Amino acid sequence: MKLLIMGPPGAGKGTQAEVLVKELNITHISTGDMFRAAIKEGTDMGKKAKEYMDKGALVPDEVVVGMVKDRLLKPDCAEGFLLDGFPRTLEQAKALDATLQEMGIKLDGVVNIAVPREKLMARLTGRRVCRGCGASYHVLFNKPAVEGKCNSCGGELYQRSDDNEEAVGNRLDVYEAQTQPLIDYYAAQGLLLNINGDQDIKKVLEDILASLKK
Ligand code: ADP
Ligand code: AMP
Repeated sequence: MKLLIMGPPGAGKGTQAEVLVKELNITHISTGDMFRAAIKEGTDMGKKAKEYMDKGALVPDEVVVGMVKDRLLKPDCAEGFLLDGFPRTLEQAKALDATLQEMGIKLDGVVNIAVPREKLMARLTGRRVCRGCGASYHVLFNKPAVEGKCNSCGGELYQRSDDNEEAVGNRLDVYEAQTQPLIDYYAAQGLLLNINGDQDIKKVLEDILASLKK
C-alpha cells in the first residue's frame, strides 16, 4: 500500500504510523525524522534545516522534495510506504504527483487525522520522543511504563527543541496557512480518508484500519 498520513502537528501521525507500518508491512518515511537524523549526523543539510525547524518554519520546498524523491527510489519502498509529514505545501504535493507518475505509482489513500487546534498545544509541549527509535510518548496522555525510557527499545526520552510554546504556535499557523489546503487537493482526487484524531490512541488506529479496508 502507498499511503500519506496528514494532520496538524500533534495530531498523532507519528504515533499511528509506528503501529500502522508494522500492521501493513510498509516503510515509514517521516521527513521530520529524516531532518532530525541529518542534524544528529551534523551534515550541511541538517545544519540548514535546524535553523528553520527551531523557529517552527518549513524547510524550503526544493530541499524536502529532493530528499523525498531519493528516499522513494530506495528498494524498501517498492512494496509500499507511509509518507508522514510530507507533502506540507501545494508545491510539494505537485512535485510528489510528478515523482510518483515518473515511477508509475499511484497513491492508495491519504489518511487525514483531525484534532481541534486547542488540544494541540498540550499534546506537543508534553511530548517526549525516544532518542533510539523515535517513538512518541506524552507526559500525561501516553506515559511510558518506566519514566524517561522507551517501552520498545529502552532508549532515553527527550523533549524536541521545537516543542516549546513559541515554535508550536508558529507550526500551527504554518499548518493552517500552507498544509490544510492540501485536504481539498486530495479530496478532489478521491483519496481522502477522514479520521477523528480526538479519541483514544487505540480507537484512532481502529478507525484508520477500518477506513483502509473499505
Ligand atoms: P505528530 O506526529 O502528528 O506531530 P505525535 O504522534 O508525535 O504527533 O503525537 C503528538 C503528541 O500527542 C505525543 O505526545 C503523543 O503521545 C500524543 N498523542 C498522540 N495521539 C494521541 C491521542 N489520540 N490522544 C492523546 N494524545 C495523543
Ligand atoms: P515534524 O517532525 O513532522 O513535526 O517536522 C518537524 C519540522 O521539520 C517541521 O516543523 C519543519 O521545520 C521540518 N519539516 C518536516 N517535514 C517538512 C516538509 N515536508 N516541508 C518542510 N519542512 C518540513
